[in-house]
Amino acid sequence: MSHRFTEDDPDAVEVRHVQPYQAVKHYRCPGCDHDIRPGEGHEVVVPVDDPGSRRHWHTGCWHRASTRRRRPKRR
Ligand SMILES: [Zn+2]
Repeated sequence: MSHRFTEDDPDAVEVRHVQPYQAVKHYRCPGCDHDIRPGEGHEVVVPVDDPGSRRHWHTGCWHRASTRRRRPKRR
């Protein structure tokens, strides 16, 4: 399942939910700078422009960050 945010957003990203059973590695959440542990459901955020620089976020951290919308503009 995926979700696209493209409306008036130059930093469009695609967000994919990772189920607990799909999470098999440790990741670092950029929202709180803490680990996401294996077996923990979370979100993968993929910039549409730059799919190589995807990030793994805690679901709660991503929710707060995307609601706040304070990401700096690129370019
Ligand atoms: Zn977090």
